[in-house]
Amino acid sequence: MDRKERENEAFDIPVAERKYLKKTSLNFNQIIILILPIFLFLFSIAGLRLNRNTKLTTAENIKIQNSEDFDQSILGHLPYNEISKENLVVIEPNIEVHIDMRESLLRMREDAKKDGVLLVFLSGFRSINLQEEIFYSLKSVRNQVAAERARVSAPPGYSEHSTGFAIDIGDFYKRETDFEVEFENTDAFIWLKKNAAKYHFKLSFNKNNKNVDYEPWHWRYEGSIEALKVFEASNRKSKNTNK
Ligand SMILES: [Zn+2]
Repeated sequence: MDRKERENEAFDIPVAERKYLKKTSLNFNQIIILILPIFLFLFSIAGLRLNRNTKLTTAENIKIQNSEDFDQSILGHLPYNEISKENLVVIEPNIEVHIDMRESLLRMREDAKKDGVLLVFLSGFRSINLQEEIFYSLKSVRNQVAAERARVSAPPGYSEHSTGFAIDIGDFYKRETDFEVEFENTDAFIWLKKNAAKYHFKLSFNKNNKNVDYEPWHWRYEGSIEALKVFEASNRKSKNTNK
């Protein structure tokens, strides 16, 4: 073989060229095969993180929603602890109230009397046990489901009466309106509506209430820090409801 022939042969080595190309494409495939799992891995990590973030966002949303809507109420009534016995005072037979509100309550009755209005105290403190009897026995006697009964009476552990800060009031001259919505037409109610706030009394269940019926006879005392603490959740709830 002369030089030219060798050169030609050396120059014309398509096989070698192909071998080179083939080798390159093989390497490229190998690179892809090597890199692909890494990409897949990274993508799946990113996907998981995104998924986790979405889930967290959903959970956060539910949490936020719950903290706004959630309260511990049952059928529209908030839970209340029973007052300790040493804070209870008897103001007349069968009527016991929280010692903090005695003076204010009696003064309110005195001042109403000066205006010719006779307030009658119908019910003050009620123990959780008594509330249980009232709720379940009347529910049964009247063949009511719990939600129906709860419109007119609090479930045990959920009555403002257990705190000693609630009082049901009637009109001495209109006893037929005791515990009736018609009480709102009596002089006693009209007087209370105008004056009760002076003595730190507030109507608990007004006409805007969603789950509990309007109770013009049921008033609660908010004239001490303890009482305000007790009714804080309720006041916050009604503030939110009225938004
Ligand atoms: Zn009441």
